[in-house]
Amino acid sequence: MHDTDQIAEFFDSFLQFKRTYKNGEERYYVCPECNRVKLAVNLKKLKAHCWHDSLNYNDLKFLVLKYAPDKLAEYNKIIGTHRVSGSIEDAFYEEALVKYPDRLKLPEGFKLIQGKTELELSAYKYLTERGIRSDVIASRYIGVCNEGKYKDAIIFPSFGIRGYVDFFVARWFLNRDYYLYESVEKSNIIFNELFVDWHKPVVLVEGVFDAYCISDLHMTNVIPLMGSSLSTEYRLVYNLAKYGNNVVVALDNDAKNKEKRIVTMLRNCGIKTSAYDIGRLNVKDPAVLRMKFWDYLPKEHKDSTDISILEERIREL
Ligand SMILES: [Zn+2]
Repeated sequence: MHDTDQIAEFFDSFLQFKRTYKNGEERYYVCPECNRVKLAVNLKKLKAHCWHDSLNYNDLKFLVLKYAPDKLAEYNKIIGTHRVSGSIEDAFYEEALVKYPDRLKLPEGFKLIQGKTELELSAYKYLTERGIRSDVIASRYIGVCNEGKYKDAIIFPSFGIRGYVDFFVARWFLNRDYYLYESVEKSNIIFNELFVDWHKPVVLVEGVFDAYCISDLHMTNVIPLMGSSLSTEYRLVYNLAKYGNNVVVALDNDAKNKEKRIVTMLRNCGIKTSAYDIGRLNVKDPAVLRMKFWDYLPKEHKDSTDISILEERIREL
């Protein structure tokens, strides 16, 4: 059993303590998010909740990650969490242990789409007809393969935080019609992490076409999940929880339940999250909407984003 006095002392070291409830089991702090005495930290259940902005921390480690990431190791020592080597749990043990994906070689025969060959021209036509803008094709280094295992496929590379390619998606479009994901540990990949600004709202979609069809050069915070799965084992969730910005989950219409599950999971990690619910617009996926996607952001997301923009401006004054 963990020592509640020790936990109390730990949270007092970086949060502003105000009062206790339930015989000391619950401690109220000033919530760093809304600046009100609304953050209830339960020392026995190891959960927290802000009654003002409905932020929920199903596990106090998310609260530590958000407001004192350098104290993760200290927290785990108090709680008695043991590090599971080689898993994302490492990240929650100590921030310095976050693992980044390995560098990946682009496949044999990779060429940027520059309209120099028949294949490049067909790929360009295919992508632009589906709504991916030419500036996006160029700036995200989308290419084709003219030989090898990926011959005749369009290649969408992903650039990791360290600047190198850590993943790619292949899409055959001429005679064969399918996708192939490089077989790397997906829980560790954040597609095009290099271009993500974690201090701005993030949109999560299923595939690269969704991400690129709703992107222009100024909108880089759309992250494809490469499917419809996401759990606390993913480094993406770790980053979202750490930076604590607004998130919109916009999965395909046929994944409505998964969308709901992901929204709930993220909310329980202390992340402000809304569901896009593409079904209300009678379309099957975000790609179909192209840039119109942004006109239909969920109202709750718009409101909270406006507030954070306002707060940012006030802080700048
Ligand atoms: Zn709050």
